[in-house]
Amino acid sequence: MILALIDHDRGSLNTVSLEMLTLGRQLANDTDSTLAAILIGDTALPLIEQLATYGVATAYHVEHENLDDYAPQAWAQSVLQLIETAAPEAVLAPGTDRGYEVLAHVAALLDLPLAANCTAVIPGDDYQVMRLRWGGSLLEEAVLKGSPKLLAIAPHAIAAEEGGDVKEPVVTVFIPTLTKKEFRVRVTGREPSDSQGISLTDARVVVGGGRGVGSREGFDVLDELAALLDGAVGGSRVATNLGWRPHADQIGQTGIRIAPDLYIACGISGAIQHWVGCKGAKQFLAINTDAEAPMVTKADYAVIGDLHELIPALITEIQKLKE
Ligand SMILES: Cc1cc2nc3c(=O)[nH]c(=O)nc-3n(C[C@H](O)[C@H](O)[C@H](O)COP(=O)(O)OP(=O)(O)OC[C@H]3O[C@@H](n4cnc5c(N)ncnc54)[C@H](O)[C@@H]3O)c2cc1C
Repeated sequence: MILALIDHDRGSLNTVSLEMLTLGRQLANDTDSTLAAILIGDTALPLIEQLATYGVATAYHVEHENLDDYAPQAWAQSVLQLIETAAPEAVLAPGTDRGYEVLAHVAALLDLPLAANCTAVIPGDDYQVMRLRWGGSLLEEAVLKGSPKLLAIAPHAIAAEEGGDVKEPVVTVFIPTLTKKEFRVRVTGREPSDSQGISLTDARVVVGGGRGVGSREGFDVLDELAALLDGAVGGSRVATNLGWRPHADQIGQTGIRIAPDLYIACGISGAIQHWVGCKGAKQFLAINTDAEAPMVTKADYAVIGDLHELIPALITEIQKLKE
């Protein structure tokens, strides 16, 4: 059996889980086994229907009165106890903050190696895995030992595809034994983010701003452009470090990773640490004064010029088209 942890936030599915299930289904086929999903907490139950279309044969519903919100050690302890019961061949987690954190705890508790950022897996006594390294600029072939095999799947590296036997998964309730200790770290409250509207990770269009934007106020036109395109605004580390954008909006190696249909990079040079956060975009439009900037040379489209002149002109044209 291939056991796959589903990442969700109080019932809201993190769709990187579907990419992981796509690889998990392939792995189940290759090892002549079945794909099972782990759904932690009652809020995850409605997700079962969606998982059926990804070839999940069994859904383990982990039930516990305190599992109403994320608690990394409690999630990891639940997975650990499920491993002891179900004896899977491999355990997968999606390449998300929660997926990485939980599987890292599981690996530490079992004293087993964990392969993170995997993009392909060839099973065997030892698994051969392909992994993204150095923020995605390097592909590594590695050998993964241990039992069960623990793998976290790189986000946005595999397209989520439905498939397999589409029928209702068998739901098995699993009640872990959890103590107070496992809930020492848990979500106790939430604060609304400064950003409003669509999130950077979900947006189909992202407008990014860097040092070239020049100031906090300089972002106003980027906000306007994004609003017209139903998109979201992000920034380079320079823009967030200078306080022009909130830190949560930073795109890159030490920020968030985006995969929109279109990324409009304004006044961003395209340093590798920024590129690894945005390279999942399907199309790139660079607006930059420097025709030699890496972002410009890598982009599908580029406009060479001052963004303070170009973006207002772009906004005017889009408004005309919309009218
Ligand atoms: C460990 C580490 C982690 C890092 N993590 C991240 C990260 O997560 N995300 C990130 O972004 N960076 C990160 N960085 C920083 C990264 O190396 C770059 O310094 C940063 O991305 C550069 O930001 P920038 O493109 O806004 O600025 P610059 O590199 O200064 O580029 C500004 C660009 O704006 C153009 N420009 C200037 N004026 C205009 C104008 N009026 N109109 C149009 N274009 C104009 C310039 O031609 C230039 O190309 C990290 C660095 C390190 C060492």
